[in-house]
Amino acid sequence: MRIAAKKTVFNMDKNNLPVAKVSLPARLAFETRDCFEGQLKSAGDTLETLNFDRVNPATGPVYLEGVQPGDVIAVHIESIQVTGPGVMVAAPGAGVLGEQVTQSQTLMVPIEDGVALFKGLALPLNPMIGVIGVAPAGDPVPCGTPGSHGGNMDTTLIRPGSTLYLPVQVDGALLAMGDLHAAMGDGEIMVSGVEVAGTVEITVTLAKGWQLNNPLVVTGDVVATIASAHTLDEAVDTATREMAMLLQQKTGLTLNEAGMLMSACGNAEICQVVDPLKTARFSMPRNIVEKLGLTDL
Ligand code: CA
Ligand code: CA
Repeated sequence: MRIAAKKTVFNMDKNNLPVAKVSLPARLAFETRDCFEGQLKSAGDTLETLNFDRVNPATGPVYLEGVQPGDVIAVHIESIQVTGPGVMVAAPGAGVLGEQVTQSQTLMVPIEDGVALFKGLALPLNPMIGVIGVAPAGDPVPCGTPGSHGGNMDTTLIRPGSTLYLPVQVDGALLAMGDLHAAMGDGEIMVSGVEVAGTVEITVTLAKGWQLNNPLVVTGDVVATIASAHTLDEAVDTATREMAMLLQQKTGLTLNEAGMLMSACGNAEICQVVDPLKTARFSMPRNIVEKLGLTDL
């Protein structure tokens, strides 16, 4: 089923009306607009002209039949097709360098022949999803904010071939996504990646036997817990505790053993440092956790 890009929300909200209802497993294609909702069309369109009420549209939400709070859904990303040109911005106060930026700038980044052309410099594409999540049980959360429900995690590992596990908080989950990037570095330090519209093909299943408090992403190489908080320190702490808990639950290691293993071969990594909450992950080599018995990934 295709979910059209004209059906968007700006908050992850349990009261959002679903645009479709599907039973699992479901194969879905989400068409998404870029994070500026297409408002920045040329170098002359800067952030001063932007209607910020229309930033970070997420396509959806889709109601997943039979899915309940406490369940975990597995969203396998089959493909991401990006539609150029991409757009990047710099603006005073925006991002890590924002205090030094004196003038807004918009840069169009053509996407041709599998590369992003940054002022003619060919950058490799790493298409990824910036915003993907379910509705929180409590108050609505703007699509620009990440959390335990997912949302604006801006995590480079959420890419084709990966599976994102999301803990469900409301009946039907209410899955929505948007904010594709054709390329982005860890941190997203200037607040934008190479922002693009596009289409994401996914397969959603119910992850039986899983219990999670926060999102988890599995790539071909790593298993990573993802956490968001007001500071990067808190986000790293939470992601680390989540991985230690997962290893204890799924492999039988003690806390001490899990911690020492994580200290030996795991990595505390930055997802993004520019959104209203910061996001970090703790990643473990997939082959190591599989040898310990965590194989239902
Ligand atoms: Ca984002
Ligand atoms: Ca973005």
